[in-house]
Amino acid sequence: MEAPDPYATAQKHVERVGNLLDLNEWMIDLLKTPHRELSVNFPVKMDDGTVRMFSGYRVQHSSVRGPCKGGIRYHPNVSLNEVRALAMWMTWKCAVVGIPYGGAKGGVICDPKKMSKGELERMTRRFASEISIIIGPLQDIPAPDVYTDSQTMAWIMDTYSMGVGYPVPGVVTGKPIEIGGSKGRDEATSRGVMYVIQEAARVKGMDLKGARVAVQGFGNVGWHAARLLHQEVGCQVIAVSDSQGGIFDVKGLDPVKVMEHKKANGSVRNFPGAMNISNEELIELDCDVLVPAALENVISQEVAERIKAKIVAEGANGPTQPDADAVLFDRGITLIPDILANAGGVTVSYFEWVQDLQSFFWTIDEIKLRLKEIMVSAFVNIHGIAQEKKVDMRTAAYMHSLRSVARALELRGVFP
Ligand code: NAD
Repeated sequence: MEAPDPYATAQKHVERVGNLLDLNEWMIDLLKTPHRELSVNFPVKMDDGTVRMFSGYRVQHSSVRGPCKGGIRYHPNVSLNEVRALAMWMTWKCAVVGIPYGGAKGGVICDPKKMSKGELERMTRRFASEISIIIGPLQDIPAPDVYTDSQTMAWIMDTYSMGVGYPVPGVVTGKPIEIGGSKGRDEATSRGVMYVIQEAARVKGMDLKGARVAVQGFGNVGWHAARLLHQEVGCQVIAVSDSQGGIFDVKGLDPVKVMEHKKANGSVRNFPGAMNISNEELIELDCDVLVPAALENVISQEVAERIKAKIVAEGANGPTQPDADAVLFDRGITLIPDILANAGGVTVSYFEWVQDLQSFFWTIDEIKLRLKEIMVSAFVNIHGIAQEKKVDMRTAAYMHSLRSVARALELRGVFP
């Protein structure tokens, strides 16, 4: 069966919850429609002397609660609809954790694994220049996403700064520390995932020490989530995976050693002592906590029937198909939705932006403390709504977010 279109999925959630909240029809229309969309097609000089055309997008879903904020993704499957959905999710995510941003997202259709560093730099700089007409520290602040990193952000920051003639660190977050990045940003999303898993375990009365964890995706989010759950919570990470497949060891893996193996061999596959498994097998493993931290739509209704984990924490954006939510809810599996579970990234991005605007930098302990406060209080709030309204946590998170954005819009009024 073909995976659902992420934009249609994102719109469906808004319609359903907007109706639950009795919002006006025009308000639901506004909330499910991106405010501004920019498509760009541009040439890049390749290493072999040829010139190739690339297409990219920047979508700003909402600036009602503050400047737009959201990552930039490099992937062959990037599409305008995917970017629209991701931008919309950013609006809800910022509202869930109560930080003063609206949502945006960007992407370039490319295969970064087949490009040299020089090609990536030229593509990034040209894309940054193309979208510079709508980004800016008070307007729209990009960050890393799938297959982009702190180096990508450094190139964007430099390109933007060259355009205006002075350094503008606040135009992107997720930068290297040396040019205005924040301590703790690399692991922030995963640290947030860890805090909400701890909260979910607390309300379920589950002991996480020795709990069996499976993590799909061993990139920024998956790797740090596996490492933190292992090192700081004492969980047993029994399986991890990447785009080439997964590995499983019932006795538990050491994520640091798996990362060394991945760096040396390009994949987690064939890790000494572990069994190779597929990404599909990983999702359905007998475990206590499942962290999907790769791409969208990996948990369908049928897969949801076979999941054995007690807690599913969505490190990735949109890993669960809409029909699967009800299955997990009916089976008593706690699903911590993406817009709550992975909001630690945008929260520390917000800290980075605040530090850049003030040119005053915080210690790692301050970052961890403030992140924990925000993640725990967001979990308690959303879990409370879910209990009170007898709905799953995704619905509760959407109820809170849609209400926040709708209220902000009512206060600001419809211009003119
Ligand atoms: P990344 O590029 O660092 O890592 C992606 C990982 O997914 C890699 O290990 C890759 O091998 C793996 N992968 C790719 N295709 C796969 C497939 N078909 N099956 C299994 N694994 C596959 O990206 P990331 O930053 O870790 O982002 C992962 C997810 O988390 C995305 O959905 C992203 O939107 C979301 N997210 C990221 C952040 C952040 O701070 N980086 C914040 C919030 C949400």
